[in-house]
Amino acid sequence: MNQFSKAAQHERCSFFGNVILGSSVSLSELRELYHVVVLAYGAESDRALGIPGEYLSGIHSAREFVWWYNGHPDGKNLSPDLKSTDTAVILGQGNVALDVARILLQSTSVLATTDIASHALEALEQSSIRKVYLVGRRGPAQAACTAKELREVLGIKDLYIHINEVDLHKSPEDEEVLKNNRIHRRVYELLSKAATSAPSHPSSSQRELHFVFFRKPDRFLDSGEGSGRVAGVHFEKTMLKAVGPGKQIAVGTGSYEDLDCGLVLKSIGYKSVPVDGLPFDHEKGVVPNIKGRVLAETSGDPTQLEKGLYVCGWLKRGPTGIIATNLYCAEETVASISEDVHQGEIASASTLPKPGRQGLLQLLDNRDVRAVPFSAWEKIDSEERRLGNLRSKPREKLTTYENLLKVATE
Ligand code: NAP
Repeated sequence: MNQFSKAAQHERCSFFGNVILGSSVSLSELRELYHVVVLAYGAESDRALGIPGEYLSGIHSAREFVWWYNGHPDGKNLSPDLKSTDTAVILGQGNVALDVARILLQSTSVLATTDIASHALEALEQSSIRKVYLVGRRGPAQAACTAKELREVLGIKDLYIHINEVDLHKSPEDEEVLKNNRIHRRVYELLSKAATSAPSHPSSSQRELHFVFFRKPDRFLDSGEGSGRVAGVHFEKTMLKAVGPGKQIAVGTGSYEDLDCGLVLKSIGYKSVPVDGLPFDHEKGVVPNIKGRVLAETSGDPTQLEKGLYVCGWLKRGPTGIIATNLYCAEETVASISEDVHQGEIASASTLPKPGRQGLLQLLDNRDVRAVPFSAWEKIDSEERRLGNLRSKPREKLTTYENLLKVATE
């Protein structure tokens, strides 16, 4: 946020909040208004598993759940049922899966000191979830999470951790992966340590986190009589198959196992969504590009570029990588823009004047779109901090568009 504020306060930067690409303004209109348009809107949808029962109630995507506890206005009404079951299954073992597990398992007195949304804190205070299964289709040497985030979960006070020691067995291919990849090695070491240092049984008051490896979801189980509620996950056991240097994928073994639960959170990755007029590779869920330059078609032909249109972040590379990865990614895109400007690939103000911010403001005004400037964002920020202060939290999120706009325009 500090970095973001510094950029947004710069005199050459204009901030237009509450503007939706595709409805407030179209991509082609933006490209008429500006010489260069960079799309950096990330990934706000979810990958689907495409297996039977995926839309039973009690099954949510991790993204929806994260939006819910973070107070995103579009996630406010999720109301996950945390009271009818004591067991949750999280599918996937990336950092998002860990975040979700941490929220379900952490003591609410600890969560109350964070900026978690109040509606989520109240629901978690009444939660009956005691056991969380984090299920991965590959093994501990391939887990997608990183060490810092794993350590945070393993460090939750009074939590019983269970990992099957047989799953920690390393094949020669695993040894190779661990030798060459420091992140995987640290994660593997942390998991091994947790497996060997845990007591053999949980105490009656302990919450439990079970790491389950080598299982891929095959279908979801209905609680019966057409209730439409999830009652468990039918998994196929997997083994690893080498498909290239250092790469092993999970393949089914034909042997199955059920895991009973009343809540499922699918944490198998986010997905970007296209807007009208934007070339999009639906298979990969990214905008086809070369170093951030948007390709006119998904053919990969580098001669056909969308002049003046660039992309960066998850929309450019797919939904992986931490903030630092996105910094390098942005630098690459900016370098492409500079190069294109210097080489005269992009029309300039002297050869083709464009209306820029004045034109955008005019267009938004004509459409009655209430654009929120950065000074109004700062009002929202300070109101959230003020409300948080009253509850000894860093901030209390405003969770409806109505309230956000009210504070912004006061
Ligand atoms: P991710 O790291 O790509 O993890 C996705 C998980 O889903 C993997 O375990 C993957 O298994 C599994 N998966 C994918 N397709 C599946 C399928 N069809 N069936 C079963 N499992 C499947 O994605 P993420 O957790 O959504 O995180 C996205 C990015 O944000 C990551 O780079 C993450 O590090 C970053 N992030 C960082 C932080 C932080 O730094 N604190 C917090 C949150 C997110 P395979 O490995 O077998 O594909």
